[in-house]
Amino acid sequence: MSKATDELFKNVISHAKEYGFVFQSSEIYDGLSAVYDYGQNGSELKNNIKTYWWKAMVQMHENIVGIDAAIFMHPTTWKASGHVDGFSDPMIDNKDSKKRYRADQLLEDRIAKYENEGKTDKAAALQTAMDDALKAEDLSRLKELIIEQEIACPVSGTRNWTDVRQFNLMFSTQVGAIADESDTIYLRPETAQGIFVNYLNVQKSGRMKIPFGIAQIGKAFRNEVIARQFIIRMREFEQMEMQFFVRPGTQKEWFNQWKEARLKWHLALGTAPEKYRYHEHTKLAHYADAAYDIEYNFPFGFKEVEGIHSRTDFDLSQHQQYSGKKMQYFDPEVDPETGKPFGNYIPYVIETSIGLDRMFLLTLINAYEEEDLSTDEKQDSRTVLRLPPVLAPVKAAIFPLTKKDGLPEKAREIMDKLKLDFNVQYEEKDAIGKRYRRQDAIGTPFCITVDHQTLEDNTVTIRYRDTMQQERVATDQLEKIIGDMVSW
Ligand code: ATP
Repeated sequence: MSKATDELFKNVISHAKEYGFVFQSSEIYDGLSAVYDYGQNGSELKNNIKTYWWKAMVQMHENIVGIDAAIFMHPTTWKASGHVDGFSDPMIDNKDSKKRYRADQLLEDRIAKYENEGKTDKAAALQTAMDDALKAEDLSRLKELIIEQEIACPVSGTRNWTDVRQFNLMFSTQVGAIADESDTIYLRPETAQGIFVNYLNVQKSGRMKIPFGIAQIGKAFRNEVIARQFIIRMREFEQMEMQFFVRPGTQKEWFNQWKEARLKWHLALGTAPEKYRYHEHTKLAHYADAAYDIEYNFPFGFKEVEGIHSRTDFDLSQHQQYSGKKMQYFDPEVDPETGKPFGNYIPYVIETSIGLDRMFLLTLINAYEEEDLSTDEKQDSRTVLRLPPVLAPVKAAIFPLTKKDGLPEKAREIMDKLKLDFNVQYEEKDAIGKRYRRQDAIGTPFCITVDHQTLEDNTVTIRYRDTMQQERVATDQLEKIIGDMVSW
């Protein structure tokens, strides 16, 4: 990260705290690592992102419905899904510094360092060696690589490492009063399994026909070995996932369709296309037959925000095997090749999985601007969040010019009407200029000022966040002006 982008990222983090977007969890107790709380503006922004996703995925598709499954699931779920045996990261401790690292992350950092220094050969060689070791699950080879790198070019100045161990990322807890091995349950590490185990319930009760999708927004928990980059890697986070059930053999076509649809969803928010890119997984998980990430160019580089995966029939077949219950769908449609119904089969699944918190950070960073407003006469600047109006936490702020002459009453009267449709805020403290700046900082698209003229002719000044232009409009126009800008 360059100095300027490092600075920008730090400024966004402190801005998020100062203006009630994101706080460190349990801050008065010095915080809890990789856990965060959303404040008054953050929770509004987060809810608006959820609504934008839900509307695009569920409301706009006749064949997609939403569910809300529990965080706790039967423990066998996680055996079937492969998480009990396979959902782990290689971990290593440094005996001198007593610091814990993800072994692959240490090597990835080194690869990035080589790349930054233009040593592309070294970077590529190390990448291959690491990939081979990970693929072969050769933990001693990973340790060897870490030590080799430390000798070749010391970074931490120490070579005193423990062995590499696999560390399962699932949080477990006990159900019921008596602690017993058989009572161990997990906090779900992904929302997807709640959809898989319910797929036939939804299909039957909703009379869904293939292809159809099930969407869900909910919390997921991962005991990440290292916390990094603010809300990018959290131990408690939220996912917005959709599983799309298709006829075997059609998965490629649907995969391509969803891959494109999802990038369009991101771009519809007005983000510059060059900020995004696809990343194709060349080494696929054993259950996947295609996988792409949608990455955003954060100040610390391109990073995954969303994954689109073609998961085959792996999950449903596993659940069929572990539960002993049929997970088949009966497809009455006639196969033109055989002239007979397609009949019973386990559907294939295309998954779109986006991290809500990463989307939140992306939205904040993309909107954040320190704007220089200096003129020849005086220096001036403002911090403005150029959020898409539809996502802005507060849609309009209403200011009486002064606290007397009936202006507060008139302003409240206008606010009481607007609040039926929009999240609005009333502010009477400080000079108007200061109030504008506070609203700019949280991304409010409109500020409405009530003055003495309002009492005479029912007009107000409306000031636009992005242009800072002001115009005089009739109060009965406000709903339309705001509505046109912030509607979904
Ligand atoms: P990464 O490689 O960054 O750990 P992943 O490939 O494990 O992510 P998935 O399991 O595909 O992630 O989860 C889907 C989405 O959930 C990711 O694209 C990301 O946006 C989000 N996500 C995953 N882990 C976290 C986390 N620890 N904190 C916040 N968001 C996360």
